[in-house]
Amino acid sequence: MKDKSHLNTVMEGCVFNIQKFSLHDGTGIRTLVFLKGCPLNCMWCANPEGKNHYPEIAYNPEKCIGVDQCGACLRICPNGAVSRDAQNKAFIDRNLCNRCGLCADCCPSRAIEVLGRMMTAEEVIRIVEEDGAFYSRSGGGLTLSGGEPLDQPGFSLALLEKAHGRGLRTAIETSGLARWEILEALCRHADQVFYDIKSLDRKRHVAGTGVDNTRIAENLKKLCAGFPCLPITVRTPVIPGFNDSAAEIRAIRDFLSAISADIIYELLPYHRFGESKYHSLGIDYPLKDAPGLTEKMMETLRSLSDRPSRL
Ligand code: SF4
Ligand code: SF4
Repeated sequence: MKDKSHLNTVMEGCVFNIQKFSLHDGTGIRTLVFLKGCPLNCMWCANPEGKNHYPEIAYNPEKCIGVDQCGACLRICPNGAVSRDAQNKAFIDRNLCNRCGLCADCCPSRAIEVLGRMMTAEEVIRIVEEDGAFYSRSGGGLTLSGGEPLDQPGFSLALLEKAHGRGLRTAIETSGLARWEILEALCRHADQVFYDIKSLDRKRHVAGTGVDNTRIAENLKKLCAGFPCLPITVRTPVIPGFNDSAAEIRAIRDFLSAISADIIYELLPYHRFGESKYHSLGIDYPLKDAPGLTEKMMETLRSLSDRPSRL
């Protein structure tokens, strides 16, 4: 279909991970491409390294073999940002660091790493194509994730167009926050969409994500109306103390029912898998005191979220 949005393709973008053999992010076996940059700032984000658009420095002191034994990062840092801490480990002063990456290049234990690198669309698609045999047998393909694919719209468009041009199936995982024209342009080259609805309560949404949810809800309505044949799965990450109430889940379920009978609705239980990434980026984990979610609570909420499935 011809792209009427005049969104230009961009042939290079910032990618922070390419994960092969995923089974939960689209039909069949998928290769997930994680793009950097996101307009939301969710307190529970499991991929904090996806929030900023640029490459970042991650440091894990447990992997540092000791400044007395190594010290390569201290010697090479042009900004004096690295020092020795009381435990003989490297310490990075992030106020002095300009993310040049020199320390990561010379760190023998990979205690310091650069998260995110510029890649061309062709480079990414070549990596995705390596598993073509698995996609054809399983119905899988490329899934764009993040971060937020809509936040690098031209690069996402280039990846989706190239993938379709090479006969690969495509999917997008999105928070839905972008101009409608961007979402529309990308969905013309998507075979499946996973769309987050975190809360329908505006104030709560702002408190938990930093942004208003009006455009997210409106875009979902437009998506269902404009792409009636596109399989759409709406996901709600269930976050303790934020949206883990029966009233919230019922409200989202009823909102979806009013839009389309074909939307699949899934609840994703909160987990803390991303916590160590916050530490490695030198950021406090915002939900460190959050209570856990019991399986019984999830079962109750899932029973409220039941929606017809067309798969
Ligand atoms: S990334 Fe560059 S500026 Fe930052 S600590 Fe490493 S060498 Fe120093
Ligand atoms: S280069 Fe790596 S291993 Fe060596 S002192 Fe620095 S952080 Fe530790």
